Amino acid sequence: MNNKMLESGNSSENFPSKPKNFIREIIDEDMKTNKWGGRVHTRFPPEPNGYLHIGHAKSICLNFGIANDYNGKFNLRFDDTNPSKEEQEYVDSIIEDIRWLGADFEDRILFASDYFEQMYEWAVKLIKKGKAYVDDLSADQIRGLRGTLTEAGKESPFRNRTVEENLDLFERMRKGEFENGEKVLRAKIDMASPNINLRDPVMYRIVHSEHHRQGTKWCIYPTYDWAHGLEDSIEGITHSICTLEFENHRPLYDWFLDELGIYHPQQIEFARLNLSYTVMSKRKLLRLVQEKYVDGWDDPRMPTVSAFRRRGYTPEAIINFTDIVGVAKRDAMTDIALLEYAIRDDLNKHAQRVMAVLDPLKIVITNYPAGAVEELEAINNPEDPSMGSRKIPFSNEIYIEKSDFMENPPKGFHRLVPGGEVRLRYAYIIKCEEVIKNDKGETIELRCTFDADTKSGTGTSNKKVKGTIHWVSAKHALNAEVRLYDRLFTVEEPDADKEKDFIELLNPDSLKIIPKAMIEPSLKSSRPGDRFQFERLGYFCVDYKNSSDEKLVFNRTVTLKDSWVKSNKK
Ligand code: ATP
Ligand code: MG
Repeated sequence: MNNKMLESGNSSENFPSKPKNFIREIIDEDMKTNKWGGRVHTRFPPEPNGYLHIGHAKSICLNFGIANDYNGKFNLRFDDTNPSKEEQEYVDSIIEDIRWLGADFEDRILFASDYFEQMYEWAVKLIKKGKAYVDDLSADQIRGLRGTLTEAGKESPFRNRTVEENLDLFERMRKGEFENGEKVLRAKIDMASPNINLRDPVMYRIVHSEHHRQGTKWCIYPTYDWAHGLEDSIEGITHSICTLEFENHRPLYDWFLDELGIYHPQQIEFARLNLSYTVMSKRKLLRLVQEKYVDGWDDPRMPTVSAFRRRGYTPEAIINFTDIVGVAKRDAMTDIALLEYAIRDDLNKHAQRVMAVLDPLKIVITNYPAGAVEELEAINNPEDPSMGSRKIPFSNEIYIEKSDFMENPPKGFHRLVPGGEVRLRYAYIIKCEEVIKNDKGETIELRCTFDADTKSGTGTSNKKVKGTIHWVSAKHALNAEVRLYDRLFTVEEPDADKEKDFIELLNPDSLKIIPKAMIEPSLKSSRPGDRFQFERLGYFCVDYKNSSDEKLVFNRTVTLKDSWVKSNKK
């Protein structure tokens, strides 16, 4: 049972028209003035050095949502300009995640590395214009001369090489005549610019390393600053939407495009998504994976798209969440409870409800004939009558949740107590007649009687009790492993304290494994990826990594209510 359940979302259904935001207002205006000839073309440009996280999902939903609503196009472009950290595994996972979200890039899976030749020619063009030069300073020396916010930088002694010398050296850089770090190509702009990004930024560095697609064809690699705007230009992107940290780089991108005189997309910046109780930097997520604090990038506690899929989140809920968060111009922290709300809201409508007992206490119903079995009618989802109903078996031995019985209950406890009555969901009212204990004084079994006239739906009795609890028939129930997840970190902003290693803030109780839960027999046919509400307990999804034909493993997707807020306010 290791086939991943991939329901690739249907774009138009998953992405209903979106509320206006400042980016859409800009595009509306562009459409009015016919700035791009009625075209809208967006892209998502991940670096393939990790799995996608919820912040990336936000960017995908934003970019694809816009293309979808304006009859435009959406490109998936891998920004694979850094050979040392990139791997095919990441490329594959990114494609899978975007398809699952339902963002349709058609056949446009593009790679920045395919533009290396064009970028090289453009670099030569800048050298010929006297706008770029080969520098022999080391990275440290360059940093040392860059200046500060209040102080101008100093020019490199190699800044005034002739065009011929620069052309020759740059060609020899490409040919592999120099070692890593021996030379770089820099733009010749202005070492005194108030914008540090314009102080002769590096365009190419030497990296003798194998590239996942280009092999050893190249040993010079473009920097992000040089490459990014060119990639958008080559693809004819109209609106190049990126996060706020690139606002100060925009004048540099503009400079490159204008000096080259090539097609010039419009860059628009928005605030990145930050989520509480987790980290989103790929470097940190990679560390969690490599040092095995989690079980891979898709460990259900990770904030990655693949983890969310494994945990049972739906694409619709993720998309809805990104819409609720909206698009802002200022950075803020989004409460993870909002994401959980969106998941719950969606699963409430669509997940089938079933009964499962996580911490079983056996009950023998003494006046129910031993060996008799009755099939009772249970509704699959009261929110959606079209989901119908199913039969669940009832017999003289059942399991209930240990916590649904109390010998010395506090006031207001409406479940089972000695001599008290409770309703079994979809079944009968039972009365607790006897409590059986082991030598340690722990309750191990209850003896109850049932009232045959109180059968759900058809019973003639109008007896009323305050509590209704879930149960499963002991001899029919299946065994399953259930995994309960909590926040990955104990604090809202694990990144906040720069002095502290974020690993110290991991929540030691983020995973609790229940090896032997009892679940109703209708779940026998469930498949990896199937989602359920276990009545009164939460939403659960069949794990595709650990389930087998012999053993079902369920991941808790989300609790029924926000228990975290409650328990923290105690
Ligand atoms: P790193 O963690 O290494 O800095 P990154 O998260 O920026 O990397 P990229 O692969 O460069 O990773 O991101 C691809 C796209 O996703 C970029 O356009 C980026 O703006 C966007 N993006 C990344 N993180 C977020 C976020 N938290 N919120 C919104 N968009 C994001
Ligand atoms: Mg980045």
